[in-house]
Amino acid sequence: MYGTVEATRWLTPGMVRVEFGGEGLAEFTDTPFTDAYVNALFLPPASPVSVPFDEHDLRQGPPEHRPRGRRYTVRAWDQSVRRLTIDFVAHGDVGLAGPWAQRARPGDRLQMVGPTGGYAPDPDADWYLYAGDESALPAIGASLERLPIGRPVIAVLLVDDADHELALDCPGELTVTWIHRRTNPSDVDVLPRAVADSTFPDGRVDVFVHGEAAETRAIRRHLITERGIDTATASISPYWRRGHDDEAWRRIKAQWIAETERDS
Ligand SMILES: Cc1cc2nc3c(=O)[nH]c(=O)nc-3n(C[C@H](O)[C@H](O)[C@H](O)COP(=O)(O)OP(=O)(O)OC[C@H]3O[C@@H](n4cnc5c(N)ncnc54)[C@H](O)[C@@H]3O)c2cc1C
Repeated sequence: MYGTVEATRWLTPGMVRVEFGGEGLAEFTDTPFTDAYVNALFLPPASPVSVPFDEHDLRQGPPEHRPRGRRYTVRAWDQSVRRLTIDFVAHGDVGLAGPWAQRARPGDRLQMVGPTGGYAPDPDADWYLYAGDESALPAIGASLERLPIGRPVIAVLLVDDADHELALDCPGELTVTWIHRRTNPSDVDVLPRAVADSTFPDGRVDVFVHGEAAETRAIRRHLITERGIDTATASISPYWRRGHDDEAWRRIKAQWIAETERDS
């Protein structure tokens, strides 16, 4: 499956929206999840093929020809016009996916696998907690749109500065706290501390915390040890890790998650 870029638009100075369409998405199958994601496949410059390619064949060949996967949230899918929307964080010139999205032009193609996912808001929760950085904003944005009318929602969101904040639609009673990274450039605890400083409503909470590994881990620990929240049913996971590209991160991610689970 592959998408053909139809349009790109900068949502903020740090996030570019790419809209894909075309015949290559004919097999796209929507999911019930608001954190649904695809594994986008990026070909190395030495690759002898172009999109669409046979991934299985390439994986049998030399390592320098193999595509490298990056996971990206389905921000929106519109079956009626066959349009897939993905919001990419533009985090500089390093990596594959971020730089690809910054340069994407109509007609460019991106091969992908999926979608799959695991979270949708629990309609019976008393209130909802969302926390994360820019990488989680697509999933958080999609989730907020699906919340019950009038239900309390707390969102604690980390971005560089006020220019990086996004407008969010939510039928719930939404309280957003935007945290700005650049006001505390060396402070990696800024998001967990903002969650810790939040006043939580009473009742059973539905938790969704995603983003940078150390930050999601610190928030998880706080929810368990300080708030007594049972994280067994919470959706908490590290999307990326500072100082690691996605390959390096995936090599140690299972061990990291196992260590994180011992925090409780
Ligand atoms: C299920 C899932 C869904 C995701 N959905 C989205 C999404 O919708 N939009 C999105 O932008 N990201 C999303 N991510 C995160 C994204 O997959 C990673 O950030 C990925 O590492 C980006 O790949 P890259 O090729 O740009 O950089 P890489 O080659 O992986 O990394 C290069 C360098 O950039 C750093 N880096 C990576 N990501 C970031 C970042 N966000 N901010 C600052 N530095 C970074 C790395 O630590 C490394 O030092 C998702 C991750 C998962 C697991």
